[in-house]
Amino acid sequence: MSLQAGDRDQINIAIDGPAGAGKSTVARMVAGKLNYVYIDTGSMYRAVTLMAQRAQVRPDDSQALQNLLVRLQIELQPGENGQSVFVNGENVTDLIRSREVTQEVSYYAAAAEVRSVLASMQRALASKKGVVMDGRDIGTHVLPDAELKVFLTATVEERALRRFKEIEQVQAITLAELEQEIAQRDALDEQRTISPLIQAPDAVLLDSTGMTIQDVADEIVRLCNVGTAGAK
Ligand code: C5P
Repeated sequence: MSLQAGDRDQINIAIDGPAGAGKSTVARMVAGKLNYVYIDTGSMYRAVTLMAQRAQVRPDDSQALQNLLVRLQIELQPGENGQSVFVNGENVTDLIRSREVTQEVSYYAAAAEVRSVLASMQRALASKKGVVMDGRDIGTHVLPDAELKVFLTATVEERALRRFKEIEQVQAITLAELEQEIAQRDALDEQRTISPLIQAPDAVLLDSTGMTIQDVADEIVRLCNVGTAGAK
């Protein structure tokens, strides 16, 4: 892993929430402002999904998934336009955003083998602090001791519209289809048995409906300053 973080004054920030709430953009902005490392854990689940699809391994084939996981070397590299993702040296940054991956990722993300391997990697990445990590179970499961936890949400209509504006040039999908896919992915993520999508009791709820991304990022940095001031 080529990411480095950490000095003694730094904290970890966990940002969880449903699909399309703006977590990745916000987390990247917050990391930039604080000079922290940004880690998009969804990209790791997407990378596993892509490789499983290529190998024709189904999400319920536990043994085949385990065999696949031991052969995968996932690397995250921060860059100007976001984080690049490499699997066994191959740059899969764009491939993991395909509709095929998006439609199936929640099934692979429900598999115990996948969650346990990726959660260990994520904890190792955050061990030196100075990390802004976004996902679904960061505050509840991966980093329960994160000093700041945010649960970022917005109405499903607004989330679908934001995502639609991002992808309408590259993917043939209507707004109504996208809204339905997002709602279905949320339901799968909320209803799975292992570390489902849920707000941690000590997370700050931020509803970004009607807020700009900049406002959301500023609010998280403010919360971060309030929290660290309080701790001193
Ligand atoms: O964040 P993104 O939408 O790219 O995540 C893709 C999928 O990965 C989610 O819908 C969820 O199924 C899974 N995921 C997860 N736990 C995380 C991050 C993502 O289960 N911490």
